[in-house]
Amino acid sequence: MSVLELDSISKRFGAVHAVENISLSVPSGSRVAIVGASGSGKSTLLRMIAGFEFPDAGRILLDGATLVDNTAEVPAHRRLIGYVPQDGALFPHLSVASNIGFGLQGGASFKRQRVLELMKMVALDGSMYERWPHELSGGQQQRVALARALAQRPKLMLLDEPFSALDTGLRTIMRRTVTQLLGEAGITAILVTHDQAEALSFANQLAIMRHGKLIQVGPPEDLYRFPKDEETAHFLGDAIVLPAQLSSGWAVSALGRVAVSNRHLSGAARILLRPEQVHIESAEHKQSDLPRGQIIEMDYSGGSSTLTVKMDPAVWGMDGASQAMTVSIRSFQNTVPRVGSTVHVKIDGLAHVLSAVAED
Ligand code: ADP
Ligand code: MG
Repeated sequence: MSVLELDSISKRFGAVHAVENISLSVPSGSRVAIVGASGSGKSTLLRMIAGFEFPDAGRILLDGATLVDNTAEVPAHRRLIGYVPQDGALFPHLSVASNIGFGLQGGASFKRQRVLELMKMVALDGSMYERWPHELSGGQQQRVALARALAQRPKLMLLDEPFSALDTGLRTIMRRTVTQLLGEAGITAILVTHDQAEALSFANQLAIMRHGKLIQVGPPEDLYRFPKDEETAHFLGDAIVLPAQLSSGWAVSALGRVAVSNRHLSGAARILLRPEQVHIESAEHKQSDLPRGQIIEMDYSGGSSTLTVKMDPAVWGMDGASQAMTVSIRSFQNTVPRVGSTVHVKIDGLAHVLSAVAED
């Protein structure tokens, strides 16, 4: 069952279409990540779900009940939705403990115990109990905001870039901790981020936003491998995008012949390969039908190297490609052949067709 339903939601600020006709179903217990560049409308969408902004058109339902439509709206504090805004937004005149315990019912000792428990959940040291928000770092403030949202035992948690103020190590730890505790508590969550790695790791459903519109929604691995367009392909990770000729389920490109994801397309196209699909091996003293090229540049960056390989057109004979073409390939191999050497290129799996002219 879906917890949250967005039905054709739109919101404008003057001439800006911040959110345009978005529909989305969020299943119970799922973790959705909404990713998009800055200004794509992510926060506006989240604020409408939380009840701090109102759609110009459309409807939002939680567990089948209408939260907002063109006739009525449920106020934010009655929505049973936890919301961690982008800036944390703590009450500046309240201590850490009072911020976290703000909406808690019960006696003083119960509240104290629950606040300490919540602080522990978000990895905040108990010694910060009496501190003021201005005495905390940005990352600590975000964790207080998270603990405050968790205190309400919400059905749905909205997180607007909650890890953005943390440095890399703590960021990963917090992401894992939060993912785990939301899972254990059975809380459905929507995370907004502009960090694709964070989104891929957090979500079981990924939604891509661009200029106020929802471009694609699906499991992270599907979007990574089969993005709808080139921009999404680049947004979600390193991409090798090549012009190709399609026919009968095969693409011929500078990297040779490779089977494609969509067998029904034909003609000129652009195809996508992810770097982990492409393997390079030395071609010195080796005979092979594999496409070959020469490494003309190498950029070493620790765990991987980016190779610029000048592919030899004669070997694979793509129509109209009389000139050699250079391809940038990121290699994770332990030892890579040196600059100047000749290599064979081998491809694993399918190429994904990003755009094609004709369909047969
Ligand atoms: P994101 O969170 O993806 O960075 P936002 O939802 O904050 O994007 O903003 C989407 C667009 O709407 C931007 O162009 C932003 O300038 C505009 N916008 C957001 N809130 C307001 C507001 N209160 N008044 C006017 N314009 C706004
Ligand atoms: Mg934002």
